[in-house]
Amino acid sequence: MSIPELRNLVNGAFAPAKEGGLLDNLGPATGGVIARIPRSTKADVDAAVAAAKAALPGWAKTSVAERAALLDRVADRLEARLDELAALESRDTGKPVSLAKSLDIPRAVANFRFFADLARTGTSESSAMADALNYTQRSPAGVCALVTPWNLPLYLLSWKTAPALAMGNTLVAKPSELTPMTASVLAEILMEAGCPPGVFNLVHGLGAEAGDALVSHPDVALVSFTGGTATGAKVAAAAAPQFKKLSLELGGKNPSLVFADCDFDKTVAGVVRAAFLNQGQICLCGSRILVERALHDRFVDALLAELKTWPVGDPSDPATKIGATISAGHREKVEGYLKLAAEEGGMIRCGGRRPHLPAPFDQGFFLEPTVITGLGAACRTATEEIFGPVVTVHPFDTEAEAIQMANGTKYGLAASVWTSDLGRAHRVAQALESGMVWVNTWLHRDLRVPFGGVKASGMGREGGRYSLEFFSEAKNICIKLD
Ligand code: NDP
Repeated sequence: MSIPELRNLVNGAFAPAKEGGLLDNLGPATGGVIARIPRSTKADVDAAVAAAKAALPGWAKTSVAERAALLDRVADRLEARLDELAALESRDTGKPVSLAKSLDIPRAVANFRFFADLARTGTSESSAMADALNYTQRSPAGVCALVTPWNLPLYLLSWKTAPALAMGNTLVAKPSELTPMTASVLAEILMEAGCPPGVFNLVHGLGAEAGDALVSHPDVALVSFTGGTATGAKVAAAAAPQFKKLSLELGGKNPSLVFADCDFDKTVAGVVRAAFLNQGQICLCGSRILVERALHDRFVDALLAELKTWPVGDPSDPATKIGATISAGHREKVEGYLKLAAEEGGMIRCGGRRPHLPAPFDQGFFLEPTVITGLGAACRTATEEIFGPVVTVHPFDTEAEAIQMANGTKYGLAASVWTSDLGRAHRVAQALESGMVWVNTWLHRDLRVPFGGVKASGMGREGGRYSLEFFSEAKNICIKLD
């Protein structure tokens, strides 16, 4: 089978990198090369930003109705290619195809439809004075840089692209070089759907090269970045001296707080899903399970039993629930934490090994789902982001101790609380240092609500009107009435 060569999209034309050559894109399930992508350099980024800058005045002048219609056409085309896109996303990320089909691609479709509707129905504020009227005009922010990670490639790219286009901006997207495939299909679909040249540009390549050139570019007015906290700090350092608008969705070490009064069976299933969905590679995954001591041992036993219903293997098999981790390097990083956990006194209660799978999956980057007990809640394994199929479980005695343990990391992205006591649910949710708290559920998303983290999990909020506000500039116009 010939290996596809992806191209950048600059000013409506698909093209290779000007000077950087090609990079191999490996399939995590087999370790083999599944595509080649342009290794873009500053020259490609400059061309893409110039195209976006030239297209800005024309696109900014289009009506909201026209932009929303484009988003709807994109949603229809994504939906029509759902099976193909799910297979591609699964191949590129190593995630189970069942997950790509039920979560990643449907969410990408929903993002385009949702922001089309929101833009269409949006109104602007006005504030009347006795002798004057103020109203808020929302203008495009300008050329926007969209930088996205490898765990939810199309899901997160669509989450940024749809509101940014709806508000009249022009874009340059830089997906992770590990997962370039669905971004390329999105670029094709945007062109087919009638997106004018230069309005959406796509530059493939390495973060330290193409990504850095993009977020540092003086003609980029806004940076929407999703990725790791260390990279986020670099992006912020590049963007801040130029006063770019900046949104950072970064890492997490999210607690699942399990109280003895929870609905036991639903909680076990919910907490396992929160821990291991997408091989634990979702920024929102609950990778620290805090359990009231009275329930701890029974809960751990049930956790281990539930995990037996999560088969690891070929991501294209609809029965598979755990696919491959993203890369050989990432699996080694996760395994490094397993070694550290042992040094810190932890007990690996299940998993922790590379599974024995038949060829070609014996060359893939799989790791068995792993449960670790016996660690202190403040140790490195329990407080640093691992971003893999690994959870640590810790007992607590009181509600206050649970909150203190939950808040005891530098992160503050998401948390889940499992209890049947409504008063406790409110008290604990309000005390958690976290951008988002779920009670008796996890990853239950309404696209209208604010999404983002506190502390080292990022800054800014996206989602619903928060996205529309972020991807635009507000201007107050005051008209004297007499
Ligand atoms: P990285 O931070 O490594 O990369 C994110 C993106 O930034 C990639 O496209 C990467 O390119 C690019 N990049 C890397 N270096 C630079 C740079 N100097 N300037 C500009 N761009 C750069 O994250 P991962 O891809 O490893 O994703 C995993 C991380 O993302 C986890 O920490 C996870 O928690 C976080 N995440 C956060 C989410 C949230 O909403 N809060 C959601 C999903 C993930 P390349 O890959 O080509 O190097």
